[in-house]
Amino acid sequence: MKEILLIDADHMGVDTAKNDYPNLALIKLSAWHKQQGDNVTLSTGHTNVATPDKVYIGVVFTWNAHKALQIYQMYKARNIPVRLGGYPVAPTTNLPQHIEHIMPDYNLYPTPYSLGFTSRGCIRKCSFCIVPLKEGHIHHVASIHEFLHPQHTELRILDNNLLASPKAHETLEEIAQAPVTVDYNQGLDIRLVTPQNAKLLHATTPTTYYRFSYDTPNITKQVEKGIQTLIQAGIRPRQLSFYMLIGKDTTFEQDMYRFKILKKHRVNAYPMIYKPIGNMEPPITNYPTANMETFKKCVSQTPLSSIFKLARWYNIYEERRKTPTKTPLTTTLTAFK
Ligand code: SF4
Repeated sequence: MKEILLIDADHMGVDTAKNDYPNLALIKLSAWHKQQGDNVTLSTGHTNVATPDKVYIGVVFTWNAHKALQIYQMYKARNIPVRLGGYPVAPTTNLPQHIEHIMPDYNLYPTPYSLGFTSRGCIRKCSFCIVPLKEGHIHHVASIHEFLHPQHTELRILDNNLLASPKAHETLEEIAQAPVTVDYNQGLDIRLVTPQNAKLLHATTPTTYYRFSYDTPNITKQVEKGIQTLIQAGIRPRQLSFYMLIGKDTTFEQDMYRFKILKKHRVNAYPMIYKPIGNMEPPITNYPTANMETFKKCVSQTPLSSIFKLARWYNIYEERRKTPTKTPLTTTLTAFK
């Protein structure tokens, strides 16, 4: 029996009981090693294994890559076998097939939901996205039953572009027939909504929202058409939420425009601030990060009235920019957070 240490670099210092987002690769590795009779320990900084036989470090978020690398170097220096994985540090590395398709060990984190991919890859090549590089073209990988635990009543689908999957319809039917609510966590592609898949989506029960993406004003027509198709299938506007990428290559005015379009249709807007992959690329911003944070705070999960708050903030911001005064801009912005 070997001592296996799993390290979740995204949640260092966070008690696993309070961590709502398991690292999928680690819970699959855990399941496989337990099948081999090994002893598996998950560490988020609270647990130490003095001399593990093998260490796996998982990282998902780019801003934690440096932390993961530091831990990796530490074990390497001690001559302990160590593997490092995750989008920001090893974008083209995948789990071996016999581990990839295992039922994850949900005991490792106390999550009440199952999570996984039914397809990977994408038909598009958005400039800000690592999926085409990491996963390649869209392909079906699994039925939901491969990772849906019988005791769970919620399913988190992590597919990069589920509606582009060659088995999208079968997958939606599987979800509709399972006794679960579903979170299409990575966002669905509004450009691929048709009356047929809208009907299938309506037959599933979202945990909170049906999530879509509206990352550029160039797809406004398809966004509006897609919303109408979903509504005609019986989905209510308040069940729809749109991720809006900000700070990549749109201006504040374009972000406001997208926000107004979404509010016109009475659907939720969820701004996501662009973060460069692995901090290797400087952020391409048309307005400073502090202002993007303000935009995000004003817009996220707030009622229509926030648009006036945001417009008021923007007027003050413009005024300050043109005529610098003794009052720092950050003080002005704080008042609107
Ligand atoms: S559609 Fe989504 S998954 Fe596909 S490349 Fe664009 S951002 Fe990435």
